[in-house]
Order: sequence, then C-alpha cells, then structure tokens
Amino acid sequence: MTPSSGHCIFCDLIRGAAEVSICYEDSVAIAFLDIQPVNPGHVLVVPREHYEVLQDIPKDVGAHLYQVAAKLIPRVQTASGATDMNIVVNSGAAAGQNVMHYHIHLIPRREGDGFDV
Ligand code: 5GP
Ligand code: ZN
Repeated sequence: MTPSSGHCIFCDLIRGAAEVSICYEDSVAIAFLDIQPVNPGHVLVVPREHYEVLQDIPKDVGAHLYQVAAKLIPRVQTASGATDMNIVVNSGAAAGQNVMHYHIHLIPRREGDGFDV
C-alpha cells in the first residue's frame, strides 16, 4: 500500500510476485535490498504479515524484527564497507512513510556522504 492506494508492493515482494534481492528470511521476517538505496547496502527489515505501523505489531514480532536487524548489521557493514548507519522507521505519510507496510531501514553511512535521512 502506498499512502494513496490499496495495493502493497511489499506484500507482492514477500509472496514472490516481484523481483527482490533477499538478504535474510524466516517465518516471521524478511530483509531485502532497497530498490532505491540512499547508500549502497541499504537494507529493509520487514514483517511477513502486513502491519502498517509499530503500534499495530504484536510485541513478539516487533522484538523479532529488531533482533533480525541487529543480526544483519555486521553483514551490512561488511558488504557496504561502512561501520556507521541510520536505523530508521518512518511512521505515517506525514513522516515520510511511502510504503505502508512496516519496515526498518538499515542505511550505511560514511562521514561526509552528504545525505540527510
Ligand atoms: P519509506 O519511505 O516507506 O520509509 O520507505 C520505503 C522504501 O521502500 C524506500 O526506500 C523505497 O526505495 C523502497 N521500495 C519501494 N518500492 C520497492 C520495491 O519494489 N522493491 C524494493 N526492494 N524496495 C522498494
Ligand atoms: Zn503489505
């Protein structure tokens, strides 16, 4: 679902209806490369179930997503060559959420890369 439609691109990706570069998956969570990375190695950690925002997510699922994110950080660091990162959730359209299926951004950052996340 984008803010303006009833369709969810992440649900499509999760059920294999569109191409995606998967970094990790289990029965609850999936992580894949962002199609328009802020920096190379930009990963999204996503629940398989469609939840829009954090307050909709069962506690165990929310906790699991952060465990997956933490586990992926060393891989993202190695793959990107950047040790620092923004770990970001945009919650709601006014806050910059464009895909209304909850996701955690892992965005590798380097000194002076000039991005404003
Ligand atoms: P948001 O703006 O909702 O916080 O982040 C949505 C993210 O999903 C954006 O960084 C955008 O590039 C990414 N995205 C949107 N559509 C697709 C897609 O079809 N495939 C992948 N891999 N990422 C997508
Ligand atoms: Zn969805």
